[in-house]
Amino acid sequence: MATSVYDLHAHSTCSDGALSPTDLVTRAAGRGVTHLALTDHDTLAGLAEAQMAATHNGIELINGVEISVTWQRKPLHIVGLGFDIGDPVLNSLLEELQLTRRQRAEKIAAKLAKKGVKEPLEHASRHAQGRLITRPHFARCLIEQGFATDFESAFANYLGQGKPGFVSTEWVSMENALEALHGAGGVAIIAHPRRYRLTHSWMRRLLEAFKAMGGEAVEVVTGGGSPGDVEAMTQLAIKFDLLASVGSDFHDPINPWIELGKLAPLPAALVPVWKALSRPVQNKLAESTLV
Ligand SMILES: [Zn+2]
Ligand SMILES: [Zn+2]
Repeated sequence: MATSVYDLHAHSTCSDGALSPTDLVTRAAGRGVTHLALTDHDTLAGLAEAQMAATHNGIELINGVEISVTWQRKPLHIVGLGFDIGDPVLNSLLEELQLTRRQRAEKIAAKLAKKGVKEPLEHASRHAQGRLITRPHFARCLIEQGFATDFESAFANYLGQGKPGFVSTEWVSMENALEALHGAGGVAIIAHPRRYRLTHSWMRRLLEAFKAMGGEAVEVVTGGGSPGDVEAMTQLAIKFDLLASVGSDFHDPINPWIELGKLAPLPAALVPVWKALSRPVQNKLAESTLV
């Protein structure tokens, strides 16, 4: 293949994405992606299916996950790549997060019920199809029952911070997430760093702490990011000596602004994170599924 196209951040129906792992991989292949990471929230459930689809489509799948962490009382996302999916410590960390998510869903449902939403937990879990319940599943329920016209208004009026259906959640610590990823042979990346709306000094503090914990990379090019975001993160990646990642954070084909593989190239001054992935991840998956 002439050029490699990397997209190292995407979601399937195993978390809050709209496409099954197979459909996601097929779509990525159709858009010219040669290296895809499936990074569902706090679960590895889609990786085996995605691997089969990747083999079928002749593209490289990199094991991925997007871990919810709390750092300095701020909720952040850490993308992990290239780990062994059979690693027990990583799996138990994710189980803990799945339990936290279930408890959060119950609390959100109770709050929405107080606002007159009918059977929010039942509706949301139907949308989740037995998988992890996430806030977009509640958003769909709010839209169906006429409480919101679209996802944006569902979050703006009910689910976002400070709104009646918001539940503040304590996720795992960033340190524990990094330890688990590193123990499983993976690398850690700060997902969409500009989306947390940190001040400049908080951003520097975050990168310093992440680097001190052995974190490897930051997402420099992300879906929906502006050229200004790329420029700012490029400078910070260089300053903190971090590798750079590229990921669309694709969730749903309905969003015309974010497409698999449709991303600006990484600035040449940066070292791409895939240089740190030690060996073809396919092998790791093959080994662990043989157990
Ligand atoms: Zn995220
Ligand atoms: Zn994501």
